Amino acid sequence: MSTPPPAKRSRTDDSLDADPSGLESARSNNYGRGEIWLDDGNVVLVAEGMAFKVHKSTLALNSEVFRDMFTIPQPADAEMWEGCPVVHLQDSKKDLLYILRALFDTRNTSWFAYGSKLPFTVVSAMLRLGSKYQILQLRHDAIRRLSECFPSCLDHFRNYYTDGTPLDNDDEIQSNSIHVPTINMCIAVINLARSFDLPQLLPPAFYLSAMMENEVLVPGWTDEDGNHWQLSPQDLVRSLNGRAELHNMVATQRRPLLTAQVHENCIATNRCERALSDERDCPYDDAVENTLKDWKALITASRSWVPGVALCGRCLGGFQRRHNALRDQTWNNLAEFFELDGVEWPVKEQT
Ligand SMILES: [Zn+2]
Repeated sequence: MSTPPPAKRSRTDDSLDADPSGLESARSNNYGRGEIWLDDGNVVLVAEGMAFKVHKSTLALNSEVFRDMFTIPQPADAEMWEGCPVVHLQDSKKDLLYILRALFDTRNTSWFAYGSKLPFTVVSAMLRLGSKYQILQLRHDAIRRLSECFPSCLDHFRNYYTDGTPLDNDDEIQSNSIHVPTINMCIAVINLARSFDLPQLLPPAFYLSAMMENEVLVPGWTDEDGNHWQLSPQDLVRSLNGRAELHNMVATQRRPLLTAQVHENCIATNRCERALSDERDCPYDDAVENTLKDWKALITASRSWVPGVALCGRCLGGFQRRHNALRDQTWNNLAEFFELDGVEWPVKEQT
């Protein structure tokens, strides 16, 4: 048997260390040139074999971590490329490209304008690398976008997720801040909220997770860049337990219809009394089952909420008021339903 060759030094093991070979080297020639390559740049960042030539001063201005890094003197044998020091980063090349675009490619300015939509993968990189390198404006912009999609206010949440839009796993959610490919994204958002201390994203994200099919929820979701997101075992249990709580709540929300009397100014007393009586007699018909299956605990009560119940406008109004009060209570209880200890919820309206 021949002796195995010595193990190659992994390129990503180098981290921020300089290559001891210290040459304008054959090694550097193995890197691909990334989309961001500024001819007058003075530092080369390398991630997963992809190199980006940029300005130290801009990095230092935007990032405390890079600022500190550049104050460390370079060893004489540091790896160089085109006269620039080479810095190895442990990030994915796509993530690094997204933040370098934000910092250096002014053609992308409109991407980051208020009201513009960014892909989820870009927002995710802005939060993760923005936190890691302390690029605060990227971190703050990512948090703003995620908070718009996973709002802590019921009215905003309903605008996104429930009014008039069926909540199926494959529906693209209409949002002004993030291209949300599917509600399955809530799995990634729960993980981001856990890792980057954003507890207020958790209740709405868990609510959406409770609407997912187990076949999708348990194995997790892969984003457009191939990053796989999965709930921790503890969070998976929280999601499933919370779903059971919501199930009970939907049944409770229906109770006003079952206990309602006709309105004192009912304009169709016979019809409304008959409709309410029918509901009391068969409260668990197919329509109820379907309503429960949909888990739509936060929708607005409407004529179509319980198909086949024909109430006059006044009786319906009375029912809706009582139902909506229970719906608000459901929202306020989300942190409790999903056992989110320490999460301040409901969030008080900012004035
Ligand atoms: Zn009536």
